[in-house]
Amino acid sequence: MHVMLFDIDGTLINTRGSGLTALRLAFLEGFGCEAPAVIDTCGRTDRGIARDLFLAHRLDDSPENWQRFHPLYLRHLVEQLSLGNGHVLPGVVPLLESLSSHPRMSVGLLTGNTPEGARIKLGHFGIDHHFGFGGYGHQHVERNVAAESALAAARQRLNGQLRLDRVWVIGDTPRDIACARHIGARAVAVATGWHDRESLAAQQPDVLLDDFCQAEDWLAGLDCGVA
Ligand SMILES: [Mg+2]
Repeated sequence: MHVMLFDIDGTLINTRGSGLTALRLAFLEGFGCEAPAVIDTCGRTDRGIARDLFLAHRLDDSPENWQRFHPLYLRHLVEQLSLGNGHVLPGVVPLLESLSSHPRMSVGLLTGNTPEGARIKLGHFGIDHHFGFGGYGHQHVERNVAAESALAAARQRLNGQLRLDRVWVIGDTPRDIACARHIGARAVAVATGWHDRESLAAQQPDVLLDDFCQAEDWLAGLDCGVA
């Protein structure tokens, strides 16, 4: 059995800034202040991004402030996505259909999004049904902890029958590759997000793709006949 752990933004979809705009609008509505001009979101968790926003404005990084922020973010996210600017990235739909229907594949998420945010984003594009489990970014500032959660969820799903050399972390940033290393999994980097092929290659992923239209060779090399 192979386990596929997908990042969302820049890997499966490009929301054309809907997520970032929703973060800014939620922060403004909830706390009455503008978010900083530059926010580092690539490969980070939503909880970590929110912490940065709180600390930048000397607000408590408290559960109460997070509970105030998160529902506002989700509401703005739905509104921003409904403007229709985003899209699913090349090759994603056939890849997910092929993997999620394969009896020897277990497909999940490893994302900095919260579970609700992930569901809204993937649901908007009609691809949320492919994912049976995941590790998310609502509880932890560090993405590596989300990776540990994703691995634990995969292990539970497979009743402990999991081999790390058959766990693949698939993402668009150096942080996704670092996550793969952190849990002892293999890394597939795809250059459809903010990072170009060269900067991803520098992190030495096991597989490097321009986009998922190139996934055939990687899949054919797996020992379970997916292509
Ligand atoms: Mg990403």
